[in-house]
Amino acid sequence: MDIHEYQAKEILRDAGVPVPRGGRATTPEQAGHTAAALGGAAWVVKAQVHSGGRGEAGGVTLCRSEAEVREAAAGLIGTRLVTCQTGAAGKPVDSVWVEAATEIARELYIGLVLDRTEERAMLVASAEGGMEIEELAARAPEALHRRAIDPATGLRDFEARELAFALGLTGAQVAQMVAILGACYRAWRESDATMLEINPLVVTGAGDLVALDAKMSVDGNALFRRPRIAELRDAAQEDPRERAAADHGLAYVGLDGDIGCIINGAGLAMATMDMIQLAGGAPANFLDIGGGASPERVAQAFRTVLADPNVGVVLVNIFAGINRCDWVAEGVVQACRELGLTQPVVVRLSGTNVEEGRRILRASGLPLVTADTLAEAAEAAVAARAQRAA
Ligand code: GDP
Ligand code: MN
Repeated sequence: MDIHEYQAKEILRDAGVPVPRGGRATTPEQAGHTAAALGGAAWVVKAQVHSGGRGEAGGVTLCRSEAEVREAAAGLIGTRLVTCQTGAAGKPVDSVWVEAATEIARELYIGLVLDRTEERAMLVASAEGGMEIEELAARAPEALHRRAIDPATGLRDFEARELAFALGLTGAQVAQMVAILGACYRAWRESDATMLEINPLVVTGAGDLVALDAKMSVDGNALFRRPRIAELRDAAQEDPRERAAADHGLAYVGLDGDIGCIINGAGLAMATMDMIQLAGGAPANFLDIGGGASPERVAQAFRTVLADPNVGVVLVNIFAGINRCDWVAEGVVQACRELGLTQPVVVRLSGTNVEEGRRILRASGLPLVTADTLAEAAEAAVAARAQRAA
């Protein structure tokens, strides 16, 4: 789950990372008042959306008067911001973050990511901040310094110092960097984060280190033990297809193809998507309906999959261990009737109560295509799609 910059900055500030003073505003007037309350002569108005690349997309404006702050906020709030990361639809800007402007001498990059191969947090730092990290990794990989953090010891001061030296920091900045990296790692652990990025971490005109930007993603599966983090969810920023699925407890990821998939178990879902591709088709989604799939849940899965207008065929693939094929079959029949399905539906059932499941499908009189194996099901779905397109 992603969180907003203003939320990430609050977490970092509480952990001891220096961040500029600022306030969130949902109206231009409030943005003006916030600037006045902060004082000073320059402010930055920043669109709060779950995306980077806001600067280049016009989502970050440097302002020199309260009137300019109001104007910048009015130009953002209520619009959708399209960045290089959001896709053409963009993300809604419901609020802006108004911050006392910082004078920048140098822009650095620091990030913490979950490295699944190393099974640890990976600290990444670069003296070339400001630009997107993917771009830097492609253009000048040697400019990235990486260090895996041993979970038993946490980040040790000497490791942080080495990184500070590698970035060309000197004097008091080294101690500041050690404190910042330590605080970031603590915040990362205590939020069950999967990604934390400060880009840029700047050296100010006065020579101090300050986090000008903050991006953070947390592990959705750990939210149950992080109630304060769970509250930071902003559903308006999420893909509407994935949001509706998550609200019903379905694990759904939208893809670009046209074969809608309803499957139990993440592994079987991945295998099914591979088989569809092998048969020459393209999946419209990943969807894991999970263990005990009641008929209602299966019907909900159909609704979720069919909300995607690209779906031309639906493939249901259930291996019932905990599940029961008869429940799934009832759900398929119920969904086909309720939703007045016009797309062909291919069903492969296997496991507990499979005979009863097949009987229910046959007895329904619906034009369902049934298959016995995964390969047959994938081929049948691709064939049904080709027939429909012709
Ligand atoms: P992003 O484009 O979504 O990553 O948003 P950032 O928060 O990183 O802002 C984009 C750019 O705006 C930064 O890389 C800075 O160069 C610039 N910027 C942000 N805040 C300030 C500020 O307080 N002062 C100045 N001079 N520039 C700023
Ligand atoms: Mn940034």
